[in-house]
Amino acid sequence: MPRAAPATVVPADSDLAAIEANPFAAVNRYFDLGATAAGIENDYRMLLKTPYREMRVEVPVRMDDGRLEVLIGYRVQHNGARGPYKGGVRYHPEADLDEIRALASIMTWKTAVVDIPFGGAKGGIQVDPKPMSQNELKQMTRRYTEHISYILGINRDIPAPDMNTNAQIMAWMMDAYGSKHGYTPGIVTGKPLELGGSPGRESATAQGVAYVLQAAAPELDFKLQDARVAIQGFGNVGSWAARILDKMGCRIVGISDIMGGIYNGDGIDVPRLLKHNADTKTVKGFKGCDELDPGDLLTCECDILIPAAVGGVIDAEVAERIKAPVVVEAANHPVTPAGDAVLERRGVIVLPDLLVNAGGVIVSYFEWVQNIQEFRWTLARVNEELERFITDAWRQVRVTSLQERLPLRIAAYMIGISRVMEATRLRGYV
Ligand code: GLU
Repeated sequence: MPRAAPATVVPADSDLAAIEANPFAAVNRYFDLGATAAGIENDYRMLLKTPYREMRVEVPVRMDDGRLEVLIGYRVQHNGARGPYKGGVRYHPEADLDEIRALASIMTWKTAVVDIPFGGAKGGIQVDPKPMSQNELKQMTRRYTEHISYILGINRDIPAPDMNTNAQIMAWMMDAYGSKHGYTPGIVTGKPLELGGSPGRESATAQGVAYVLQAAAPELDFKLQDARVAIQGFGNVGSWAARILDKMGCRIVGISDIMGGIYNGDGIDVPRLLKHNADTKTVKGFKGCDELDPGDLLTCECDILIPAAVGGVIDAEVAERIKAPVVVEAANHPVTPAGDAVLERRGVIVLPDLLVNAGGVIVSYFEWVQNIQEFRWTLARVNEELERFITDAWRQVRVTSLQERLPLRIAAYMIGISRVMEATRLRGYV
């Protein structure tokens, strides 16, 4: 459902209901808690919250049946104090301006927490791409890229995949950009290997989730071996998480996608499920499991809950009913501020998005470095460096949370905000 545009770019944080309903206001609620912990003055808060540049473009597409569809696309560059703007592009009916602003700002804090030399951005087209043909998708992608190309650049803004976009779409983006500016593989990350993509980029977000879980489990006193895991979403992140955690010895008991959900307390046969999903494009109907209403996945019986789909799915009401003692935010902003308060009161451990799903952008950084070096790393090197970056970030977030007596989420915001503030000061920006 498209939301009404807010009156100001940065919504006031006085009205709790409005904060819950507006994703950018919700992220800024967490920002404010982190900024208070970091001791950021009021005028600098406004500077750090406000997106640097927002571009809205029309994206006309001639559909296969001859109709002309005029879609709307965005690219929001939130903050570039620490390096080129960086962030994915999503194709989704809910990808309106406030959602893209929220996601762009999350990228600013995420790249800072894991200490890679990028700022934050996000793009999107407000569309349901599922029924579209390859030809329609290609046209749409090329048009969108041409229209935002003025603000892209290998040292300016580097898109990547996000929801409903993949390596093929990055290849089309690279080609559309290259046709104007010359061959520039480093203009997007998440490309196919054949076009300068990095080994391990497709699995990177889920691999990062697994590395954080391995580092956090002994310190936060939960077990991974045989732990019952439920995953909301079976796109890139959800399906790779199922595969990697299954191999690590977790028991994947519940999975849902937009079509349906499945549950098996003894553990789902993940390799067979991947085949079923490749054939039918859904987890629904997979034999040997109980059917689960997708709405019940978040509250099913499990030890580790992994939302890996859209934002805002865990509000106060859902948070009250969650049975898992550990929530792992593989999606961006899956928990609303009111939901977060409930989880905190109930003592549920939340591993926050800024840290836990940063594997994707970390390996995007490695891909960009490889493109600049014109050199290819091995998968082993990519995963080794990914583990080092994300485990270091986990340690820093954990130590800050203990020292400052803050929830992990706010500790992560505090670290990210402090780094961006320091870069802003050092550059003499204002
Ligand atoms: N879309 C991913 C994210 O939300 C990756 C972004 C990137 O690689 O630039 O972090």
